[in-house]
Amino acid sequence: MELRICHLYPDVLNLYGDRGNVMCLQHRLRWRGMEATVTGVSVGQPLKADDFDLFFIGGGQDFEQEVLLEDLAGGKADEIRAAVEDGKTFLAICGGYQMLGSYYKTWDGQQCDFIGALDLYTEGEQERLIGNFMFSCPELNGLNVVGFENHSGRTYLGSGVKPLGTILYGGGNNGRDKTEGARYRNVFATYSHGCLLPKNPELADLILKNALERRYGTVSLESLDDVLERNAHDSMERRLKQA
Ligand code: GLN
Repeated sequence: MELRICHLYPDVLNLYGDRGNVMCLQHRLRWRGMEATVTGVSVGQPLKADDFDLFFIGGGQDFEQEVLLEDLAGGKADEIRAAVEDGKTFLAICGGYQMLGSYYKTWDGQQCDFIGALDLYTEGEQERLIGNFMFSCPELNGLNVVGFENHSGRTYLGSGVKPLGTILYGGGNNGRDKTEGARYRNVFATYSHGCLLPKNPELADLILKNALERRYGTVSLESLDDVLERNAHDSMERRLKQA
């Protein structure tokens, strides 16, 4: 089995080591004897969504998101919308997550109309939501996901999407309704940056299983030695609980 991973805008949307999530997905496939190719597609390069099984979009600052509007309008937005509806798997983080929604209005009033692949919108506030945070995730049988957030945008979900999880510590989507991230078809979207997947190997495997099953039918993933990953997860969970 193999997965073809597309890293969208790897040179523009790559805050806090978001790229590490792509490496994590690739390694967890290879450790199980599967093939995993990673192809970067950036500004000015055409996107053919049919060539890929799994898409990763990292975070970026308001400025970078604005820079991408023109490139998205030049064909990528249509491809992404179609791929989402077609059940392709996506992991989108922070700025990349916001871009899948309908719009982002920055705290100083700049309106960015985005892809509209997911039923959600984002409005900025001057005070940022920053720090380590944690949320429960119903699809992970009660396991908590630990991560790091840093955003001005407050995201509000429409009825067409579900949250990825419920906030236990931190801000999440908007600091008000306790929701974090979004789930729609095979899209996973979250405010959690950086080493999200290395520290939450069950979430990494859920995303991989999702993409593999879309392509091959029912798949059972062999378990891996996740002692280091689990230690990293548990030490952050302990820190948050003690704070
Ligand atoms: N520019 C967005 C915000 O501040 C996204 C930031 C990010 O990706 N960290 O809300």
